[in-house]
This record gives sequence, C-alpha cells and structure tokens, in this order.
Amino acid sequence: MIQQRYISQLGVSAKRFKWLLLLALFSALITPVVIKSEDTFKTNSKYGEIQLTPHELAWLQAHQELRVAVKHGWMPIEFKLESDQHRGISVDYLEALASIFNFRITLLDYSESMNTSSVDVISGVVGKNLKHPEFKKLTDPFLNFSFAIYVNKKLNNGVEITSIDDLANKRVAVFKNGSIAKEIAEIYPNIKLLYVDIADEAFEELRLGRVDAYVGNQMIIDYHIVVHRLNFVEKVAASPFSTDVSMAVKEDMPELASILSKGLRAIGKNNPEILGKWEIRDSRYSRWLMPILIVASLFLVIGLVRILRLKQTLKQQSVEAKNTIWHQANYDFLTDLPNRHLLDTRLRQAIEKADADLSSVGILFIDLDNFKQVNDTAGHSVGDKLIKEAADRITRCVRSYDTTARFGGDEFMVIMSDFDNERVLEKTSKKILSELQKPFHIEGELFYISASIGLTIYPNDTSDQEALLSYADQAMYEAKKLGRNRFQFFKASMQHDATERLMLMNDLREAITKQQFTLYYQPIISVGSQIILKAEALIRWNHPVKGMINPAEFIALAEETGLIEEIGDWVFHQALHDIQEIHAQYSADFQISVNVSPKQFVKPERLLAWKKALEKAAVAGHHFCIEITEGLLLQPSLAVVNTIADLRDFGFQFSIDDFGTGYSALAYLNKFDIEYVKIDQSFTRNLQPNNHDAILCEAIISMAHKLGMKVITEGIETEAQMKILSDFECDYGQGYLIAKPTSLVDFMAFLFEHQRKSQNPHLN
Ligand code: C2E
Ligand code: MG
Ligand code: MG
Repeated sequence: MIQQRYISQLGVSAKRFKWLLLLALFSALITPVVIKSEDTFKTNSKYGEIQLTPHELAWLQAHQELRVAVKHGWMPIEFKLESDQHRGISVDYLEALASIFNFRITLLDYSESMNTSSVDVISGVVGKNLKHPEFKKLTDPFLNFSFAIYVNKKLNNGVEITSIDDLANKRVAVFKNGSIAKEIAEIYPNIKLLYVDIADEAFEELRLGRVDAYVGNQMIIDYHIVVHRLNFVEKVAASPFSTDVSMAVKEDMPELASILSKGLRAIGKNNPEILGKWEIRDSRYSRWLMPILIVASLFLVIGLVRILRLKQTLKQQSVEAKNTIWHQANYDFLTDLPNRHLLDTRLRQAIEKADADLSSVGILFIDLDNFKQVNDTAGHSVGDKLIKEAADRITRCVRSYDTTARFGGDEFMVIMSDFDNERVLEKTSKKILSELQKPFHIEGELFYISASIGLTIYPNDTSDQEALLSYADQAMYEAKKLGRNRFQFFKASMQHDATERLMLMNDLREAITKQQFTLYYQPIISVGSQIILKAEALIRWNHPVKGMINPAEFIALAEETGLIEEIGDWVFHQALHDIQEIHAQYSADFQISVNVSPKQFVKPERLLAWKKALEKAAVAGHHFCIEITEGLLLQPSLAVVNTIADLRDFGFQFSIDDFGTGYSALAYLNKFDIEYVKIDQSFTRNLQPNNHDAILCEAIISMAHKLGMKVITEGIETEAQMKILSDFECDYGQGYLIAKPTSLVDFMAFLFEHQRKSQNPHLN
C-alpha cells in the first residue's frame, strides 16, 4: 500500500506513465490518496496537510502495520463486540489515523499483564501512571472528558447540589482507578469518598442511598444512564475535574510517536464527528444515522460499487452496534451473567408467571465474604478472576432455567421459579455455600472465601418487586451478622433492624464533628511484676439518644461506609494527646495500643502521617503499639507489607489481636517482626488447669516465646485464670480482673491507686 502511494514520486518512464495515471485515478476512487510534495502530506482525507520529516517518511515506508492494544470493556471509549471486534471512540481515531497514513492497524486486547513485545501503541491511557514503562505517553491527549456530579433523584430530598462545594461532608462515589480520585481527595478532603471498581457499583450505591452523589466521566456515565435505563440517576452539576485520554507509543519508536502526534493533531482533540457518533442523547440510535447518511451521499459521486460496499458495512456495523448495545445493557462484561437490568426483567417475568399459576418465586442474594480483602490485598486482577470463577460455581449449582445474575461488586442473585417448598431453596443455598468454600486457584496461589446468602420468597414475604430485593439484602446482612458462610431467610423483624442500621449509619457520620466519641483505656499488666506500663485504647460512642455504644455495634458500620479512616485517625490523635499527660504525670515509659482496622491500610497515607504527628509532639514511636488482626497478614499486598515495615522502622510496635480465632499460625508472623500476640478472650473464658484451652494457651505462649514474641492474654476475669497464665509464663494480661476500660480521668486515678497499692502491699 505504502509503495503505491509514492508511485508519483518515483522516476518512471513516459511509456508507463499513462498506465500509472490510470491506476492512480482508480486508486483515488477506492482509497484516500496521500501525495508527497516537499515533505508535506496532502491527504484527500478531510484532515488536511501534514508536514513529515524525512525520518518520519522513511519510517512510514518501512512499517506498514501498527499493532495497537485497546481495552475491551470501556464503553464507549474502547470495547469489544460479541464478534470479538474492537469498537469505540479510540478505534475510530485509529481508523482516522490509518486513513491519513494508510497503514494497517491490528487491534490487540489490552491487559496489564500483556506481552508488550508485540505492541507498538496503547490507545487509551488515562492519568499519569502508565503501567508499562516501556511506553511513553504522547504529550497531546486526543480526548478530554469533563466530570459531572450525579445524584439519585428519588432520594435526594430537596438537597440542592449546584457545585462540588455542596458535596462537603457528603458521601461520594468515585472510580478507584480513575484519574481524579486522588485529586478530589487532596483538594476536597472533607468529601467522604467511596471508591468503586465499576460504574455499576456506583449506581448501586446511589440506588441504595449509601452515597449522596457520584462524580464521574460524563461521556461514560451518560452512556450508561441511557443504555441501562437508569431513570433514578440525574446529572445535577458540572465539576471542576476533567480527564485526558492519550495514546502511548513504544519508547524506542520516536518517529512513530511524532507521526501519530501530528495525525492526532490534524484530526483534532474531541473531534466532534467522532464523538457525535457515540454520544447518546434522546434517541439511542439516531446519532448513528446522520453520519451514515452524510457519508453515503458523499460517496454517491465516487461510484455505485463503493456505495453498495459501504452500505453493506454500515448496515453490518449498525446491526453489530445494536447487538452490542443490547448485550452490554443486559450482561455483565466480566462474568457475562445477566446484570441488574436483565435481572429486573427476569424477576418481573417470573412474578407474572407465578401470579398466573399461583406459584412462588425464590430469590437468593449471595454476597462473598472477605472478597474485598482479597481484592484489596492481592489486587484487581486476582479479584476479577475470583469473581469470574465464583460466578461459574454459582451457575453450576442452579438449574438451567433459573437466572443467575451479577448484582454488582461481589454480589450475585439467583431467581428460582417452580419449586415445591423452601427445602429446595435451602438445598441450593447449601450447595452454593459449599462450592464457594472450596479453594480458588488463581495465578498460582490459593485463595479462600465464603459467602453469605439472604433468601426471600414471592409473594410470602412481599408482593413488591423492589422490596423483595431489599428484603433479600437484609436477610443476607443478617447471615453476615450471624457469622458469615451461612444462609438466612428473611423475617419481618429484620426490616426494623435495617431501618435502625440506616439511622445509626447517618448518626455515625456526624459523630466526629459533634464530638460524640471518647476514648477509654484498659490497663495491660505485666503478669510477673504486676507493673502497669501499657494500656489499650478502646473507643466509645456517646450517642445523644442511645447513650454509650460499644465498638462492636459501630466499627463494622464504620468500615463499611469508609468512616473508619477518619475514626481511626481521631483515635490515634486522641491517644497521642492523652499519652503526653500519662507520660507527664505517671510514667515516661508508658505505651498505648490502638486498634487499627485492615481498611485503614488500604490508603496508607493517613497511617504514615502518624509519624509526623509523633515527631511534632516529640513522642517516640515505641510508645505506640498497633493492634492488627491476622487477616491483614495472610495475603498481604506489597502496600501493606511496606506500610508495616515503614511504621516499624519508625519505632511503632505491632501486636496481633484476637489470636486464635482465625488462621492461628505463628511462624509466618516472624517475618513481619511482630512484638506481641494477644490471645483471644474466648480461650481465657474457659481456662481451667489441663483443659483443652489451657493446653492451647500454653502451646501458644511457648511457641511465641521461641519465636521471640511476647504474649498478652485478653479477658482475664478471675484470679484462677491469672494463676494459670502466670504458671505458663504469660508476659502480660488484660481483663476485668485488673480493670474495666474507663475514661482517661478514671484510668489515671486507677494507675495511681494501683501504684500506691503495689508500693505498699499491705494495703491490699
Ligand atoms: P479488642 O481489641 O479485642 O478489645 C478487647 C475487648 O474486650 C474490649 O471490648 C474490652 O472492653 C473487652 N474486654 C476486656 N477485658 C475483658 C474481660 O475481662 N471480659 C470481657 N468479657 N471483655 C473484656 P470493646 O471495648 O467493646 O471493644 C470491642 C472491639 O472493638 C475491640 O476488641 C476492637 O476490636 C474493636 N475496637 C475498639 N476500639 C477500637 C478502635 O479504636 N478502632 C478499631 N478499629 N476497633 C476498635
Ligand atoms: Mg484490641
Ligand atoms: Mg482482642
């Protein structure tokens, strides 16, 4: 092809010139011709003249194929049809480039782990960090999308949002991997961000009222709203954010980079014709028809054959596009299961059928336990594979005529018709639970999860379709509360609990600003010397109506809503304030333990900022011990490992809380340099000489000592328990026998009293 283009510049004999002229004229009819004069590309494509250097020209002549990696699920920028063909705005840009420079483009599937040796260009790069260092982003982006604020208009009871400033203290969903998440967090720290992996998840959070708004890319979201018929979502305001999409070129191909830059500049950023084709407004397909008509009439002049061919392809493309739009609108791209939209349709059909033949419909709401943890610690690629495999396992457990759908994130739904009694639903639930409990082999490693299932039955529980799903969600939540890895049928009392929870969740959001939290302290005593130089900080919530609430009732809620990060920070800063008083008045060797949730390690910046706070207060790191649970260390991400190492280097000590309730292995703790193991109080409770728990305690203590760790036993309530632990040479003890958690004032009074008594033993 390229050779053909330069034919007019080659020295050719007059004899052959006539033929060549004819050939050139003919080729003008079938391809856009590029004529070179003085390094200038004059294209008869609509993009005008382009200056190329001799080097660039030479490069073009030497390369006829461009291998481009494009993403497959980024509608409408880059996505894949069922027929495996790539489509989207980027693809249109690539086609425009091909029409200018006349090279052949081979489209390949982009993935983070792709083999880049056979890729020249990555087409849609967003943000600063390019995952593949051997590529360089072109300086000029070819797309720029603005972000807007979306709300659930059904829930947005008159709260007016006219700009991003109105989102202060509101819960807002953003894309976790998107370009603006970090910017928003930095510029608007008082917006409470909830990070989502996929747009569907954000819409789900909006639908359930778990976020107040969603800030996202207009082009993408508007597309989803129309395609998925998300009638409840409304765009209310623009945001100051926008994102650029650029192409990236292999670093060792500078000529290609400059050729593409020139071509893209000629086509223009946000080319209205290309974008127009993908913008969906009132009618879903009308925008496709205009360019089709314009182009078709233009080509009428060129020749009938061409029109027929073109009409054929356009028809084919438009059929394909309609198919894709339908498929994308109804199926989840990761698992290819029906999505929420198709689930609604299927449920409606199932209900209509049940009404007609007086039967019932069963709903199973399945939520994977610990999935978020695997996803956060092992990474999205593992997370995605696990979801896919889980989807397959669930599908295998149900009958072929039941519907299994992906509801969003790690949630699935099964609709079952034609069942004789509840036992069938029970049996299916048990089967699903047992399948999901089996290990997942992913990327050479084993991952373990389980699931919680909530069940509702139409029309027994309710005849309202929306309520049916919401009740199933509540039943699932109950299953989680009862310890996970189980199923639970909906009961009317759960409705009440769910309302309570929602109210508590709303109250929790204001608890920090309204100063309703307080920090209690419980002493940790040295078993041998009976000296107290440690305490655990335990949070309490002084609720204006409900009174003092224990953390068991709100920490999980705080973790779910993301509030835990803020609460965790508050706890640390309060403890830092209090320890200075303890140091000044009681002992400069005192150490406070704070509980840190695994969720706080997801964005470790806040944790790492604790070092600065300590420096500022001139308190050494070893005056703080961070209590974590084993789960965090089981499959830790590099970020978790680095954060722990960083904090440890600073002097923070670490302890493993509730040891014995989870995985309960000691040896692997060694590599994290953990100082303390806290034996869970469930062991202490039944401690009697030589019983099962005593044998376990003794074994843990002796193992820990061998590995260089100290042991703290929790929940010591009796002298007898203390005696046994002392015999086992347990290092530290904590429990009601010594003192209950109390306010700082009472705790200080206790410390002095304890000191006084131990200095004058006869006072005891
Ligand atoms: P934990 O870290 O295992 O804390 C020990 C819990 O056992 C505390 O419950 C304490 O009051 C209770 N306890 C202590 N001695 C005894 C005893 O002799 N007998 C009995 N029956 N219980 C005893 P609390 O304060 O209700 O805290 C419950 C859990 O909430 C904590 O368990 C911890 O996991 C979490 N938590 C508390 N404060 C925070 C916090 O600031 N941040 C985070 N992320 N979690 C916290
Ligand atoms: Mg603790
Ligand atoms: Mg504990």
